[in-house]
Order: sequence, then C-alpha cells, then structure tokens
Amino acid sequence: MDIKEVYDKFVMDTYGRTGLCVESGSGSVAVGDDGVDYIDFGSGIATNSLGFCDSDWVYAVCEQTKALQHTSNYYYNVPCGLFAAKLCEITGYDKVFFGNSGAEANECALKLARKYSFDKYGRKDRGTVITLTNSFHGRTLSTLAATGQDTFHNYFYPFPPGFEYVKTNDIDELKSKINADTCAIMFEYIQGEGGVIPLTSEFVDAIFELAREHDLVTIADEVQTGVGRTGEFSAGTHYGKKADISTFAKGLGGGLPIGVCAAASGFSTVLTKGTHGSTFGGNPVVCAGGMSVLKKVSEPEFLRRVREKGQRITAALKEFGKVKSISGKGLMFGLELTGITAVEAMNQCAKQGLLVLTAKDKLRLLPPLNISDENIDKAIIILKNILN
Ligand SMILES: *Cc1c(COP(=O)(O)O)cnc(C)c1O
Repeated sequence: MDIKEVYDKFVMDTYGRTGLCVESGSGSVAVGDDGVDYIDFGSGIATNSLGFCDSDWVYAVCEQTKALQHTSNYYYNVPCGLFAAKLCEITGYDKVFFGNSGAEANECALKLARKYSFDKYGRKDRGTVITLTNSFHGRTLSTLAATGQDTFHNYFYPFPPGFEYVKTNDIDELKSKINADTCAIMFEYIQGEGGVIPLTSEFVDAIFELAREHDLVTIADEVQTGVGRTGEFSAGTHYGKKADISTFAKGLGGGLPIGVCAAASGFSTVLTKGTHGSTFGGNPVVCAGGMSVLKKVSEPEFLRRVREKGQRITAALKEFGKVKSISGKGLMFGLELTGITAVEAMNQCAKQGLLVLTAKDKLRLLPPLNISDENIDKAIIILKNILN
C-alpha cells in the first residue's frame, strides 16, 4: 500500500506535505515508514510538548481510557475539574472553558469579549475586535476574519464582520483605530505563523493602557506561545502582563486535541448557561494527558531548562553564515536565512534526519520542551551542515 496514493484518493488536498509518513516516535525522535530516525524540531507544530509518547503522559492517557473516555457536559468528570484547577493555579486565571482546538478557544474568547461588552453597554454595535496585521488566529470563519493577513481573506465570502486590523507594533495606528464600537484587542505576544515576530514591549504596554482607558477586553492568543514554549508558562510573563483572557491549545494536551479559553475575574462569569458549549470539551482522556503536561511544565526547573536550551541553540545558530537573524524566545525560533530559502533548508534538513518547519519565509524551529542535550547537539550538527 502506498499511503500517499490513499491520501490522494481519499483525503482533501488542503496541506502541502513533505512526503514523509511518520509511523512512530519516542522522545524527540520520529521514525518514518522508511525506517529512518528523524530528530523532531517541529513537535507537530508546538503540540507534542513532551515529545513522542512521553511515558508519564502515555500512562495517564491509557489509565483514563480504561476508566472513562467521555461523558458529555451534562455530567461532571474528575480529570476535567482537576485539570481546570491546576491550569488556574498556574496561570492565575479565574475560570476556563474547554474546547478542542486553538480556533475554538479563540471563538470562545471572541464571544466572551462581545458578551462582556453587550452586557455592560447594551449595544449591538459595540463589538468590533482589533487584531494585528500578520497575526494568525485560526481557520474557522470568525478566526479567519480575525487573522490579519489578506491572503486568508479569500474565497469564503462573506466573512463575519466586526474586525479591524492594526499594523503590528504601530502604537499610533492602534490609537487611531479605537472608537466607540471597539470592544476588544486580540494579539499574539510572538506571532508564530506570521514568522515568529515578537511584539515590542512598548506596543504591549500601549495595548494594555488603551484597553484600560476605553474598557476594551484584552485577549492574548497564546495558542502557540503558551504552555512553556517561550521559557515561561505564558509568553505574557516576559512582558509582565496578564490579559483579561488568554487562549491556550497546541502544547497543552501533549498531542491530544484541546483548546482553552482562560478568563480573569470580572470576565470569567460572562458566559452563562446555554451561551456556549462544545460536545467534546473537557474530555477526560485529554484532560488526564494534559495534567501530566502541566505537572512537568509548571515546574520552575523545567522552565529554566527550556530557557537554557533555547540560549544554547541560539548561540550555535548565531555562528552559521546563512542565518541572517534569529527571533523568538525559549524553544520558539524564527530564522531569517540568506543564500538558501526556508523551504530548501527544510527539505535538506529532512534528508539529513531533522524535521523543521517554516513560517512565512523563515525557518521555524519548535523542538519538544523536554528534548535532551544530546539530540540538540545532533540537530545542531545537521543545521550547521546546511546553514553554514
Ligand atoms: C495554530 C494557531 C491557532 C489555531 O489553532 P488550531 O488548533 O489549528 O485551530 C490559533 N492561534 C495561533 C496563535 C496559532 O498558532
């Protein structure tokens, strides 16, 4: 059986694939159906935060599947409640809502912000959400509309209204776009899909000041940056900020689908019975796996190691001739290259046994948070072959 042929016949052709079929994995090493070992510097797009099949995560997930795999939200389930409590303890948020993806977490945040505004001002037209150019917030119609990139605003007309775009890091434009109909500002502290572009601290300060002044809800999309990726549990910590709402998803389930909208007090009771829901939200198996992720990632020593590994990789990359600039934090890197395109570099890496990603025209590296020093060294040798 040629799996590529099966996909070509039966799976909609929406992704550019590399050609590799991953059959299994262990730690930060993926095994292809070609029998080749690949060091994974992509983590399933920041999702396998503990690498492939971490033993504690496997144990938590497997044990939970033997007890209860799903109940629906008509009933309580223990793993979901404990996971919510742990997440609130770590992040300082008051309450969370559970969905299954980043887009769904952001949908919840948008609904919450608009209802906060409607409840308080009683106006249907005070619902505009400001987002940033070059952002990425998901693939549903609303989160596509929220995504501040023209290339995504195509084909699927009509897009939901109520979004205004502000040039990233442009404080004057932010000021000029806020008006009586604005209800929220949504942003990534470091734009992941947009090319690993950090917001300036001045711009983040301006977002929070203007939001306070105009009673706007701040929504931090931490779907990619959250759960330890940047060396802090939340990327907002680097800026000394906590938004009214943060969304988490990718790395939170250790590879199982989850999306969380976390709200601070004052916002956490806006969504009331019947105003929002998700059939699979709070699934006990996913929450049990997520709990094993949280237990590790919330340890200060674990986060210190993420920062240390990030610094070590950065120091090595800086020496390579084809690396023009490095952006990002912790174990989230965007490399601007010269003399080779990101796609060429990615393909050459795969040939030498290293999986990496691209973001716009940058090479993007997102290794598992618990990657060993030994595998980092092996990956650096491959990157040196290609980028030096
Ligand atoms: C990936 C991503 C999303 C969308 O998450 P899905 O799980 O694919 O819906 C939203 N926001 C950011 C910042 C992301 O990186």
